[in-house]
Amino acid sequence: MTDLRDVWKNVLLILETMIQRRNLVTWFQNTAPLKNENGVFTLGVASPFKKEWIQARYMPAILSSLQQFLPEVKEVVLEVDARLDNVDDARRVAMPVDAGAKRVRRVAQGQEVSFGDGLRSKTFQTRYRLDSFIAGRNNRLPHAAASAAATSPGGIYNPLFVFGNVGLGKTHLLQGVGNQLIKNFPDMCVVYVTAERFVTEIIQGIRTKRMTEVKDKYRRADCLIVDDIQFFGFKETTQDEFFHTLNDLHDAGKQILMSSDRPPKDLDGLDDRLRSRCGMGMVVELLPPEYETRIAILQQKCAEAGVFVDQEVLSCIAFHVETNVRDLDGVLKAVLAAQQFEGKTLTVELALEKIQQLHKAVEVRESFVAPVAKPMRGFVRDIEPIVSAVSRYFRISKQDLISVDRRREVLMPRQICMYLIREVLDEAYEKIGADFGGKNHTTVLHACNKIQSLMKEDQRVVRDVAAIKHELGVA
Ligand code: ADP
Ligand code: MG
Repeated sequence: MTDLRDVWKNVLLILETMIQRRNLVTWFQNTAPLKNENGVFTLGVASPFKKEWIQARYMPAILSSLQQFLPEVKEVVLEVDARLDNVDDARRVAMPVDAGAKRVRRVAQGQEVSFGDGLRSKTFQTRYRLDSFIAGRNNRLPHAAASAAATSPGGIYNPLFVFGNVGLGKTHLLQGVGNQLIKNFPDMCVVYVTAERFVTEIIQGIRTKRMTEVKDKYRRADCLIVDDIQFFGFKETTQDEFFHTLNDLHDAGKQILMSSDRPPKDLDGLDDRLRSRCGMGMVVELLPPEYETRIAILQQKCAEAGVFVDQEVLSCIAFHVETNVRDLDGVLKAVLAAQQFEGKTLTVELALEKIQQLHKAVEVRESFVAPVAKPMRGFVRDIEPIVSAVSRYFRISKQDLISVDRRREVLMPRQICMYLIREVLDEAYEKIGADFGGKNHTTVLHACNKIQSLMKEDQRVVRDVAAIKHELGVA
C-alpha cells in the first residue's frame, strides 16, 4: 500500500515548482493527508481560513500533482482539523526543506529527480543502459556516438541528434547516455525531459509570468537531453526558448542530446535556425535491426527477465517480426505470458500464434525452420548464455553442469563450458572456478588446457566447440 504521507510529501515538492515558496509555506504548512477512498482524497488543514484560501486558489494544482502518484483520485476535499496546529500531531507533513542548487532529491516514487529551484529530470531507467543496447550491424554508429558523448561530454558529438522510427531505441540510447554520465561524473547535473514536458513548462511559464525562471533553470544543466523533439513543431515561443537554451549550453561546452522520429531537415514547422543548430554536431539514424541482431536482442530480454526460451522460438519471433524492437519485445512478452498464465508450452507453434494475433499483416510460415543466423560478435557478456548453450547442446541441466557432480558424462561438457567462458569472456580462472561451485583455479586451468589439447586430436571435440560457438554467435 502506498503511504499517503509519502505521497503528500512528493506532492508538496511538485507544488513547490508551481507556487512561490513563501505562499507554499503559509498555506500548506501543517497539512496532512487524512484518507484516500473511492477516488476522493481528503486533506486536513488547520483552520477554516486556510481551507478557504487553498480552496480558492490551489485545488487544480493539488489534484493534478496528486494524480501523478495516485491516478485514481478524482476529487480533493479539504477538512478542517484544528489539532493539526499542534506540533505533536504526527499526521502533519513538514514542508520540504529549501533545496540548495544541485542537491538531488527523489520525487514521484523515483520517477523524477529535482536539482532545486524547479529544475527536474526524469530518472533514468536502470535497464536503459549503453551496455544493454544491442547495436548490431545497423546501429554501430549511433551507439558509438552515444558512448563517446557519455565518455567525453561536450566533445565532438555535440549536439548529438538521434532519429529513427518508433520503437527503435531512441529513448533507450539517450537514457543510456544519461545513466553512463551519472556513473562517470556523479556530480553532473544531467537533465532528461521530453519535448512535450519542455513545451508545457514554457507555456506555464508564460501564463504565470515566470518565464525567466523557466529559462534560467535549464541553463543550469550540465547535460540536457530532450526526447522526441518532433513535438516542437509550430510552437514558436517554445522553439525560441529552446534555441536560446541550446546556444547557451553549447557555448558553455555542455552536452546536448536530442531525439526525433525524423532528421532535422524534415522537422515540419521548425525554425531554420533551430534546425541547423540541431544538425550542427552529429546526426545519426537508428535503423531496424537485422535478423541476427533481433535474435541477440531477444536473448538479452530473456536474460534480463531471467527466463530461458528455446533458440528455435527466439529465431521464429526474430524471423517474423521485422518492424522494430518494441514489437519484438511485445511478442516475446505475449509468449511468456501465455506460458506463465495459461500454462502453455513455449513452442514455435505458440510463437506463431502470438505473432499472428499481434501482427495480422505478417505472413507466418506454418512449418517454420529457423534460418541460420550469421555469427555476430559481442552480445555474450556473461556466463549465462554460455552455460545455457552448453547445457542445451549436451542435454545436461545447467545445475549439473555447474555442480560438483563427478559423473563422467558431465565432466567433458563442464570442461568445454569452462574453456568457452575463458575464451569468449576472457574470465579469470579464479572467477570461473567460483562460478562452478567453488572449484580451485587450477581445476579450471586444467580443464582449459585439456580441451585445447583434445581439439588437436579429437574431431568430435572440435565439432562440439564449433557448434556451441556458432549458436552463441561467437564463431
Ligand atoms: P523509441 O524511443 O525509439 O520509440 P525505445 O527506446 O522506447 O524506442 O525502445 C523500445 C523498447 O525496445 C525498449 O524496451 C528498449 O529497451 C528496446 N530496445 C530498442 N532498441 C534496442 C536495442 N538495440 N537493444 C536492446 N533493446 C532495445
Ligand atoms: Mg522514445
